[in-house]
Amino acid sequence: MPEKIFTIPINEAFEKESGCPFCALRERLEEQTLSYTLGAAMMEPDVRASMNAAGFCRGHLAALHSMKNKLSLGLILESHLDELIAALSPEPSGGKKGVFSRGRGDEPDAADSIGKFSESCYICRRIGDTEKRYLSNAVWLWSSDAAFREKLKSRSFFCLTHFSALLKTGKAELKAAEYAGLYSAMTALERKYLSSLRSSVTQFNTSFDHRSSDKPLSPEARSALDDIRAALR
Ligand SMILES: [Zn+2]
Ligand SMILES: [Zn+2]
Repeated sequence: MPEKIFTIPINEAFEKESGCPFCALRERLEEQTLSYTLGAAMMEPDVRASMNAAGFCRGHLAALHSMKNKLSLGLILESHLDELIAALSPEPSGGKKGVFSRGRGDEPDAADSIGKFSESCYICRRIGDTEKRYLSNAVWLWSSDAAFREKLKSRSFFCLTHFSALLKTGKAELKAAEYAGLYSAMTALERKYLSSLRSSVTQFNTSFDHRSSDKPLSPEARSALDDIRAALR
C-alpha cells in the first residue's frame, strides 16, 4: 500500500498545474531538498556521511552555491573534500593491459573512485527516491480512484521523462487491464498534444515564407518553440 501522504500533493498538482504535473512536483521537491541540505541535514551525522560519499552534480552544486547559507555549504564541502582526497589512492592499478599486463589491471584506482563521485549526487538521489514514490502512488491512485482517473485524462500533456516513468511504473505495478487503461489514456492525450504542437511548429515555420508574410501568426504558433521545451524534456 503506497503512503497516503503523497496522494494530497499529487492530487493538487494534477488539479492546479498547467504543465507536466510531475515536473511541478519535482520542482517543489528540489527546492525543499536544497533547503534541507543546507539546513536540518547539516546536523545529522548519517545524512552528512551520505552527502560526503555522494557529493553533488554540477547543477545542484551551482544551486547550493546560489543560496544564502554559505557557512553550511563550506562545512559540507570541507568534509566532502576529505573524502575526495582519501579517494586519490597514490598508486595506479595495473598500468597498460595486454602483453605488458602484470595482472593488476582490474583493481580500482582513482580513475574509478573519483569517477564514482563525478556520477553521483546526494540531491539527485534523494529527489529520485521520492519521485519514485510519487509515481508509484499515482499509479495506485489510477487503479483505485475514479476521480483521479478523470483528472489524469484531462491533463494536456506529460513531459517525455515523466510520460515514460509513469507508464513504466504502471507496467510494473498494475494488473494488465489497469495498465492497458492507463496506457491508452496517456498515449491518447500525448498524441493529441504533440500533434497540436506539430501543427503550431509548421505554422511557425511557414510564416518565414514570403508568400504567407501577410497572414497573422496565431498565439500557439508564436509560442510553439517555447511550448515544446516543457514537453520534450
Ligand atoms: Zn515532467
Ligand atoms: Zn544533482
